[in-house]
Amino acid sequence: MTISQDLFERALDSIPGGVNSPVRAFNGVGGTPLFITKAQGVHTYDADGKQYIDYVGSWGPMILGHNHPEIKQAVLDAVENGLSYGAPTETEILMAEKVKALVPSIEKVRMVSSGTEATMSAIRLARGYTGRDKILKFEGCYHGHADSLLVKAGSGALTMGVPNSPGIPADFAKHTLTVSFNNLDEVKAIFDQYKDQIACVIIEPVAGNMNCIPPVEGFLEGLREICTDNQSVLIFDEVMTGFRVALGGAQQYYNIQPDLTCLGKVIGGGMPVGAFGGKKEIMDYIAPVGPVYQAGTLSGNPIAMAAGLKALELLSEQGLHEELEAKSKALCEGFQAAADEVGIALTTNYAGGMFGFFFTEAEKVTSYQQATECDLARFKKFFHLMLDEGVYLAPSAFEAGFVSTMHSDEEIAKTIGAAKRAFAKL
Ligand code: PMP
Repeated sequence: MTISQDLFERALDSIPGGVNSPVRAFNGVGGTPLFITKAQGVHTYDADGKQYIDYVGSWGPMILGHNHPEIKQAVLDAVENGLSYGAPTETEILMAEKVKALVPSIEKVRMVSSGTEATMSAIRLARGYTGRDKILKFEGCYHGHADSLLVKAGSGALTMGVPNSPGIPADFAKHTLTVSFNNLDEVKAIFDQYKDQIACVIIEPVAGNMNCIPPVEGFLEGLREICTDNQSVLIFDEVMTGFRVALGGAQQYYNIQPDLTCLGKVIGGGMPVGAFGGKKEIMDYIAPVGPVYQAGTLSGNPIAMAAGLKALELLSEQGLHEELEAKSKALCEGFQAAADEVGIALTTNYAGGMFGFFFTEAEKVTSYQQATECDLARFKKFFHLMLDEGVYLAPSAFEAGFVSTMHSDEEIAKTIGAAKRAFAKL
């Protein structure tokens, strides 16, 4: 029995499913989750002392690799002055100014403590601002676990086959409309059906919770147009894509301006942080200036702000995002060539520092339907073979992979070498 297996047995006694967030339990791939003891640079280390090249990166935030020395120092410096005040600090202003400078569609921003809080708050704000109840989301997109958003959701909800969670009153869920990602005709039809009733459209501009699916050409442009025509608020959930796909997020990469943007993970440099921001006119609808209530005791926490601010400063380095995309591309092309060599049907997607690979005969995966039709049994086998090789991929076929600046050519070559041996065994 490994130490991880032993720890998991113990955890099962005291923590539901042994984990504090479902996908971690390896439900999507089977077997025992690895218990991590430390992470440094490109590597994570498990309780049994094994080292892995990590492509999870704490599910996205570790764009600069784990435990970056400057972020660590910023945290240590901040800790000297106390852990939390529940009162305003200058660091919060610096953070807000930095976010505004990097994400031009954001004129005002409010900090929260998770991605779930960011999307939940943005939805409430959009409803309060428009005076409408219905929201529109896309099948397979995950926006955290707020009641309205856990309908036909991706990520763990999809991995575990419970797209609609019990505990959500049907009276809430009925206000959440869902259509297919990358299908503008369905969006148009639902806007015709629910004329003047849709408060907002929320979308992951690059879907990262049903594997990695970028928008097809014209899709985001079309959404922008439809939202403007119908006075609906367009919300980009950039919890995953923010500061990763490009410095200014997917909205910069695809050159589309949403009305509101949700941020998370990355903005805390690894600390529990989220944010939502956008047009002044909409943002001033929240308390204390506006009537829509939103609050948080630990929001803008000084340690989290110090870590996040340092991370954003480091991420602002010229050329960093081009370099990240080059790494995603090299990895995808390497996987593709290795799979082709042994006749394994595979296709890949990437955008900036996120990537995905699909075991399918399809030439390109652009829809939720296609993502769910991939060979999941093959993914499971591949995942475990890669783990044996010392490569830690997301433990689900419905999660994007992430590269960091620390993934050198050498690590990428090693990963592709491992994939080649794994494909041959499938
Ligand atoms: N939105 C997106 C796009 C996400 O990927 C996630 C988490 N993976 C969330 C929202 C929720 O964030 P959190 O887990 O921090 O609540």
